[in-house]
Amino acid sequence: MELTPSASETAMAIPIPSRQLYIDGEWREPLKRKRIPIINPSTEEIIGDIPAATAEDVELAVDSARRAFSRNKGRDWASASGAYRAKYLRAIATKVLERKSQLAKLEALDCGKPLDEAAWDMDDVAACFEYYAGLAEDLDAKQKAPISLPMETFKCHILKEPLGVVALITPWNYPFLMATWKVAPALAAGCTAILKPSELASVTCLELADICKEVGLPAGVLNIVTGLGVESGAPLASHPHVDKIAFTGSNLTGSRIMASAAQMVKPVSMELGGKSPIVVFEDVNLDKAAEWTTFGCFWTNGQICSATSRLIVHERIAAKFLEKLIDWTRNIKISDPLEEGCRLGPVVSKGQYEKINKFIQTAKSEGATVLCGGGRPQHLKKGFFIQPTIITDVDTSMQIWREEVFGPVLCVKTFSSEDEAIELANDTQFGLGAAVISNDLDRCERVSKAIRSGMVWVNCSQPCFCQAPWGGIKQSGFGRELGEWGLENYLSVKQVTQYISNEPWGWYVVPKSKL
Ligand code: NAD
Repeated sequence: MELTPSASETAMAIPIPSRQLYIDGEWREPLKRKRIPIINPSTEEIIGDIPAATAEDVELAVDSARRAFSRNKGRDWASASGAYRAKYLRAIATKVLERKSQLAKLEALDCGKPLDEAAWDMDDVAACFEYYAGLAEDLDAKQKAPISLPMETFKCHILKEPLGVVALITPWNYPFLMATWKVAPALAAGCTAILKPSELASVTCLELADICKEVGLPAGVLNIVTGLGVESGAPLASHPHVDKIAFTGSNLTGSRIMASAAQMVKPVSMELGGKSPIVVFEDVNLDKAAEWTTFGCFWTNGQICSATSRLIVHERIAAKFLEKLIDWTRNIKISDPLEEGCRLGPVVSKGQYEKINKFIQTAKSEGATVLCGGGRPQHLKKGFFIQPTIITDVDTSMQIWREEVFGPVLCVKTFSSEDEAIELANDTQFGLGAAVISNDLDRCERVSKAIRSGMVWVNCSQPCFCQAPWGGIKQSGFGRELGEWGLENYLSVKQVTQYISNEPWGWYVVPKSKL
C-alpha cells in the first residue's frame, strides 16, 4: 500500500471536475438540468455538484445499453470474444493506477474516507478490473464445455452467455470499489450496463466515465447516471428492458427493488446490511485481538456492511481486554481525511451523523454504558465527525445489539462457554461476516462452521480479495460478488443438446408402408 502523500501535496487544492451524465459514450446534461450539491463531510461546505438524472435520462441510458448489447451491424459487446472485452478492462485498470493519486483524493473529499484508505481502494479497483479481464479471457476457453449424458444418442454442451442489460445500483461507503465489483464482472461477462451510484458520493464513478471515454470503450457498453434514488434508481430498477438488477445498499431499498423486480420476474442479486460478530476467546494475545477488533469496527469510519460491530468476549479476559481496546481506540487519529496519518474521518453526511448519534442516545436510554467515545471529538468543531465509541452493559434486546448502525460504534457482550459465544454470534437477523479470534485453531474451525454467515475471518477481520466470494445469508442478502461467483452473476447457462443417431427416435411409430 502506498501511504499518504506529503502534507504539502495534500494541502493543495483539489478541483472537483464538473461532469455530466455519461450516456451512449457521451457526456449529456440531464434533460431536466437538475444538479445535486456535493458536500465535503469534513467541512460541511459545498464543493461542487453532480448531475441528477430522472426517468427520461434513464430511458436514454437503457436504450443505449440495449443497442450496445446487440447491434445488428458491426461487433456487439455480447458476442465479442472475452479477449476483446479483456483489453478494455485492462486499459481501465491501467488508467485507474495512472490517476490513483487524484482519484484517491476525490474519494476522500467526497465521502470522508481517510486518504490512505482511499488510495488502497484505488489499488483494489485496478486489481479487480485486471482480475475480471483474466476471467473474461478464460470464458472463451470454457465455452462449449461438454456434459456427459446417460444416452449415447445425444451429445450436449454448455454455452455461458451474458444476461443482457444490467442495472448496477451502488452505495456511498466504497463508491468506486463497490461500483467496480459490479461493473468489472458485468462487462467481462459481455453484459452492457447502467451504473447508478449513490447521490451521496458519485464523484469517482463519474471519473470512471471519463476513463471509459479515454480508453475508447464502445458507446453504450457502460452508462453512468447519477441522481436521487427515487428519481433515477427506481425508474432504472423497474425498467422493462433491464434484464437484471445487481444492488448493494440498505435492506429497505433492497426490498423495494425486489418487490418491483418481482412484477417482471427479473433476477436480482442483493448485498445488504449486517451486524457482524467478532468472538474473542480467552487464549488470545490481547494486543493482536485489540488491533483486529478496532480495525474490524472502525475501518472506513465504521461504515462497512461487514463491520464486526458486536464484540463477544470471554468473561475471564473481558475487563483487561476492554482496557486495551480503549487504549487502541484513543490512539486512532481522527482528522480531515486528507491530513497525514488520518485513520478516522467524518461519516458521510449530516443524515448519517444524526442517525448514529441517535443510536448512541437510544443505547444510553435503554441502560447501556458508553465506555469511550460517544460524541464529537473536541478538537473538531465542524464536519460530521464521531468518536470511535465502545458500548457495554448491552442486552440482546437493545437496538444497539440488533440494528446496523453503519458508524464507528462497537457494542460488547461477554460469554462463558463456546456454545454461548456461538449462540450470541448467531443472535441476529443478518448473516454477512463474522470473526473468530483464538490461538486454538480447532476451536476456530468449529466456531467458523457453527456461525451462520457468508464469510468468516479467523484471527483477523475484514480482509477482502477479489478472488474470493463476497456476500451474505439471511437478511444480508443473496448472490455472491467477486471471484468466479461474481462473474456467474452476469451469465446465463444455455444447454445445447444434439441428437446424433441415424436411427429414428421411435416414440411415434409410423407404419413402414406409409414411409
Ligand atoms: P441505500 O439503500 O440508501 O442506497 C443505495 C443505492 O440505492 C443508492 O444508489 C441510492 O440512490 C439507491 N436507491 C435509493 N432508493 C432507491 C429506490 N427506491 N430504487 C432504486 N434505487 C434506490 O443505501 P446506502 O445508504 O447508500 O448504503 C448503506 C447500506 O449499504 C448499508 O445498509 C450497508 O450495510 C449496505 N452495504 C452493503 C454491502 C454488502 O456488500 N453487503 C456493501 C456496502 C454497503
